[in-house]
Amino acid sequence: MKLKISNLEKAFAGKTVLKDINIDLEHFRSLAIIGPSGGGKSTLLRMIAGLQRPDRGEIHINGERIDYSETLLHEYRKTIGVVFQSYNLFPHLTALDNITLPLTVVHKFSKEKAKIIALDLLDRFQLKVHMDKKPHQLSGGQQQRIAVARALSIESRFLLFDEPTSALDPELTSEVLDMIKELQEQDKDLILVTHEMGFARQSCDYVLFIADGQIIEHGPSAKIFKEPQTLELKNFLNKIL
Ligand code: ADP
Ligand code: MG
Repeated sequence: MKLKISNLEKAFAGKTVLKDINIDLEHFRSLAIIGPSGGGKSTLLRMIAGLQRPDRGEIHINGERIDYSETLLHEYRKTIGVVFQSYNLFPHLTALDNITLPLTVVHKFSKEKAKIIALDLLDRFQLKVHMDKKPHQLSGGQQQRIAVARALSIESRFLLFDEPTSALDPELTSEVLDMIKELQEQDKDLILVTHEMGFARQSCDYVLFIADGQIIEHGPSAKIFKEPQTLELKNFLNKIL
């Protein structure tokens, strides 16, 4: 996919959190966004998801400018699958209903059609045994896999992940990362904010390093991890690896 960001700025209560972000990526399959906490990664991802408006600047995805006007933003959001760090599922609904509800309510599928789509996805990812369970009856890893399945249910053109494994115990992390890997193998384009450097390095083809509201460094993942150029990235990698 393509991603072009021009003069993007965002402040909260007078505090600038993204400072004049500019980048033009012509082709990537999986983009990893890395960087220290508080640097602005989630804010950027939420703008790409249409969940937050920039104060200034533009984002183009695959050549199309995201239109942040109220009506169009609503339509745009419906076409994108997003998975956050935690609390993705409706706690009072079963796994199955967590997938079918947005399909019927937001996307206006019939109940029958929604169920067919949901069962197909649950089956594909060996999650059918959990279909009648509510989130509290599932492990964090299982919940996140249901959340990923739900993000896939709308056939979005690409997927956005914001630290989908950071709330999980280490032994549950790999089951979610394995699922993401499977999506990559099936040619799903994605943008992933992550602290899993091994995954970013092996499974993502391009990396943005964001710190203090700026893109400090970016490049093919092989290069970023092997030959970091800036002191900021070197220090960050030393600390996290
Ligand atoms: P990261 O995901 O890299 O940890 P964030 O994008 O979440 O960083 O946050 C960047 C900065 O913006 C932080 O200082 C955070 O406290 C602030 N921030 C993010 N969202 C809001 C908000 N809705 N209101 C006020 N401040 C916010
Ligand atoms: Mg974040």
